[in-house]
Amino acid sequence: MASRRNFIKVASLASVGAFASSSCKTENPTKTKSQGKAVKPIVISTWKNGINANKKAWEILSNSGRALDAVEQGVMVVEADPNDMSVGYGGRPDRDGFVTLDASIMDETGNAGSVCALQHIMHPISVARKVMEVTPHVMLAGDGALQFALEKGFEKMNLLTEKAKKEWEEWKKTSKYEPVINIENHDTIGMLAIDSNGNISGSCTTSGLAYKMHGRVGDSPIIGAGMFVDNEVGGAVATGMGELVMKTLGSFLVVELMRQGRTPQEAVEEAILRIVKKIPDYKKFQIGYLALDKNGNVGAYSLHKGFNYAKYAENKSALIDADYYLKG
Ligand code: ASP
Repeated sequence: MASRRNFIKVASLASVGAFASSSCKTENPTKTKSQGKAVKPIVISTWKNGINANKKAWEILSNSGRALDAVEQGVMVVEADPNDMSVGYGGRPDRDGFVTLDASIMDETGNAGSVCALQHIMHPISVARKVMEVTPHVMLAGDGALQFALEKGFEKMNLLTEKAKKEWEEWKKTSKYEPVINIENHDTIGMLAIDSNGNISGSCTTSGLAYKMHGRVGDSPIIGAGMFVDNEVGGAVATGMGELVMKTLGSFLVVELMRQGRTPQEAVEEAILRIVKKIPDYKKFQIGYLALDKNGNVGAYSLHKGFNYAKYAENKSALIDADYYLKG
């Protein structure tokens, strides 16, 4: 569906992030462990709110920090922002009024951690990292995740802001539940970063769909659905109606397609086409995929118009519109 012209437009925008090997030598002499050639760091994340998150991540990456620290601390900026009503503090509650959070993180060794349906903790991404680093497990859910977080010293707090509460009370008057994600009502953050050692990490954090059923878990904490990285290949993150991403294991699919030789742009387009092929009512929902290969090339594609992503590379921050499937 994507016209070749649009594909080329996005591909050429994306290639701005590619590592120019000629200039790497002078600007960053660090060698990759995996490929033996010099690389420049890069961070990309979903939606406009990614701009501030990337800024924080870039501070770490540009000081030779680890990609894992960058993707954790980057998304923490958005988790703490009460104005972002799809992530962390200030997130919209479920239909029973509980703010429940999903998050996942993955490092360059293939280690992964996640939490789902976690309440009362401002930084689920840091709890996910702790799950990854200090437990023998990958995922903790609900009360168990909260218990673990409290044991690890995370502070218990009320995440439901007055603004989110008022909106929810308004919604309750009709209680009309339409799990339609359009371009206005989501800004889950998914982030991918490569550090100056050439290592990739990824993170994803969200309060999920507004007014979802209590106990609903989306794609964001599911390793391979909302986020996946493989240091041999690259990484991918997803945003939008999580159920569609889960049914097609989207981020894993994107990474595997890149492993088979597709560019990040070709891979994200194929993952959207998979949804189109498999999910009859796909038109009702928005999905956006973002991918990064180990050479710093970016791919971005969505079902509907309106998906964008933030990129920070070579000391420059940019917000870029993604190409999309449903045209006219
Ligand atoms: N993917 C998230 C979920 O389904 C929501 C979003 O990206 O807005 O929970």
